[in-house]
Amino acid sequence: MTADRRAELEASLAAVRERIARACAAAGRSAEEVTLVVVTKFFPASDVRILADLGVRAVGENRHQEAEAKAAECADLGLSWHFIGSIQSNKAAAIARYADVVESVDRVKLVGALDRGAHESGRAVDCLVQVSLDPPGRAGRSGADASDVRRVAAALEEAGSLRLRGVMAVAPLGEPARPAFEHLAEVAAQLRAEHPGATVVSAGMSGDLEDAVACGATHVRIGSAVLGPRPVTR
Ligand SMILES: *Cc1c(COP(=O)(O)O)cnc(C)c1O
Repeated sequence: MTADRRAELEASLAAVRERIARACAAAGRSAEEVTLVVVTKFFPASDVRILADLGVRAVGENRHQEAEAKAAECADLGLSWHFIGSIQSNKAAAIARYADVVESVDRVKLVGALDRGAHESGRAVDCLVQVSLDPPGRAGRSGADASDVRRVAAALEEAGSLRLRGVMAVAPLGEPARPAFEHLAEVAAQLRAEHPGATVVSAGMSGDLEDAVACGATHVRIGSAVLGPRPVTR
């Protein structure tokens, strides 16, 4: 079973790396410019272990309890843990105690608690501002509006144990990803003009990584194309 799973993950990982390499070549970018974050949500720590053995260095999780447990179980692997889910205010400090990168900071209100958690864990935690690419008013949208991005970024910059590293976004549902990622690239460039260290653009999932790479993504977050369909849906 484990040998089969390893072979399966090795093949899908190779295919995803090939897609990234092709997308980089098509965009005239070097493949080293794009970091693969494998999204392991809903999959067991045993898969994380196999992925680490296959050379994966960064993993993404979107639910606090699951992420916390898996990060603890895999603490020996030296992975970079990216928190990519929506953050409840009362969980923010706890998330900053194990996450190496918090990609989904979408409001100023989270910053104090994230900073406290990072400080208590004795580390500096990298943070991205999650930018909403959905039309205003859409139900269930997550991320800061373009007008709020600067305020969230300024709050992160002020926080002693957090480092503002850039932006993250998810393409809008049911719409072409490319124009949304082009907009994200503009938001990212504006942010960089004010905060030169904010160089990360996390965009692109299994279905749209090529568009994201074409629009300058530095990080892609890939789940199902590596791990297969998620075993449970919410
Ligand atoms: C689940 C998830 C991903 C990965 O999605 P796939 O389509 O499985 O590649 C990326 N980003 C976020 C924010 C997610 O929640």
